[in-house]
Amino acid sequence: MSDTGSDRVTGAGGHAGPASHREPVPGQARRGARSRLTVVSGPSGVGKSSVVGELRRLDPDIYFSVSVTTRPPRPGEVDGAHYHFIDRAVFDKMVAAGELLEHAEFTGNCYGTPREPVERALAEGRPAILEIELQGARQVRAAMPDARLVMLMPPSWEELVGRLTGRGTEEQAAVEARLAEAERELAAAGEFDVRLVNADVGEAARQLLDLLRGDHRLHEQNSGA
Ligand code: 5GP
Repeated sequence: MSDTGSDRVTGAGGHAGPASHREPVPGQARRGARSRLTVVSGPSGVGKSSVVGELRRLDPDIYFSVSVTTRPPRPGEVDGAHYHFIDRAVFDKMVAAGELLEHAEFTGNCYGTPREPVERALAEGRPAILEIELQGARQVRAAMPDARLVMLMPPSWEELVGRLTGRGTEEQAAVEARLAEAERELAAAGEFDVRLVNADVGEAARQLLDLLRGDHRLHEQNSGA
């Protein structure tokens, strides 16, 4: 990570310190032992960022990975918060050094998950969430078979087209490329452990939180707590 500065990525989750120094908060989705990784995928425009943002509000203890990308920032996006915006040369170096847990090219830009902060969060017992596209989800599945893969689905194809074209942040060609990708992603829904329809952001976020809390309860049962 020397080229991007490891502190930028290390600080990305806003984590205050080792889990052992913090009191568990009742109802939070934390576990004492190594946590499980949850991957949230789904076509562009399905509302992944909104759902994950709401989940973050519901339980700030969950670790949310901040990806690196070669895509230029959209208006309002903050370096280090939404993404770490890097150039292709730095991205290639990170891939070569094995610093990315997974990485993919998506409609002409590169995206990847910095490995170290995710592994640290899991080792500390914090559930961790990646919000990534399909190729990355498949790489995580291969590298970490116990990861849970969640696909966020639109209520209908028409609804997805409406959301993507209505966003107004992209050129027509980029919207079309994203729609083509969306079709491919939805066709892979059967590969996912859980399929969640995002008809309502708050409801989808609560369902995701229930999944993470289910892990917590299971852990308590297994450890006799
Ligand atoms: P956007 O450009 O709209 O922010 O993201 C495009 C796609 O890349 C989305 O589906 C998003 O979930 C995905 N993405 C974001 N970060 C990563 C990452 O680190 N790895 C992979 N494989 N996909 C990512």
